[in-house]
Amino acid sequence: MTEFSDDELERYARQIVLPQVGGVGQRRLKAASVAVVGAGGIGSAVIPSLAGAGIGRLTIIDDDIVDRTNLQRQPIFRDDQVGQPKAQLAATFVRSLNPNVEVAAVEQRLTSDHAKAILGEHDLVIDGSDNFATRLAVGDTLTRLQIPLVSAAAVQFQGQVALFRGWEADKPCYRCFVGDAFDTDDCDTCAEQGVLGALTATVGSFGTLMAIRAIAGIGDDVAGSLFLFDGAGLDWRKIRLPKDPNCRTCSA
Ligand SMILES: [Zn+2]
Repeated sequence: MTEFSDDELERYARQIVLPQVGGVGQRRLKAASVAVVGAGGIGSAVIPSLAGAGIGRLTIIDDDIVDRTNLQRQPIFRDDQVGQPKAQLAATFVRSLNPNVEVAAVEQRLTSDHAKAILGEHDLVIDGSDNFATRLAVGDTLTRLQIPLVSAAAVQFQGQVALFRGWEADKPCYRCFVGDAFDTDDCDTCAEQGVLGALTATVGSFGTLMAIRAIAGIGDDVAGSLFLFDGAGLDWRKIRLPKDPNCRTCSA
């Protein structure tokens, strides 16, 4: 049993009091190790929320530096940090928010070559990266490692969030969802298409809630369902994703 300090009991009081969390759920959060791929718009919602909730260990992976165009939707960074490495800044942010969290910064772009080395040993990964090459490398690796993936993406006024456990017989993996056409596609970025900070915050927070539910054991299992958000029409839709019987990642 993980014990809590006085600081932790006070800090997490508003969530421990929830019957669905309680001491049992809080211990699960503290025992959990979560990796966040991408410290961008999605990551800026995910990282503070996970750190505040008391996830035990966080790994933040991003190879980029802060650009002035990021500040509109990435409030964990400040104007005077333009030009500095995001992963390190995000880790410093976590330490100053909640010193109980063990945090590691990885200043690398995730590729299929080293995704296993970086993502292994985690209990769950939240992918908020902005390109399909990274997302597929993350998705394929986690299916093989049997680590749950929360995938969250936002562009223009559309958001998509889903939990994947593709190694299970009836559950799709990320590749079942997007197919093979995007392995070399790197153009699905906010740089070209635009996005509102309020949208990335909404979608990132929804993905974080999904992760916390899964770790703490709250509510029904939503693995294999895709949640689609229309930010212009203000509507969430839930779609059941099929497992692709010919998927080269999960149906071998
Ligand atoms: Zn698959």
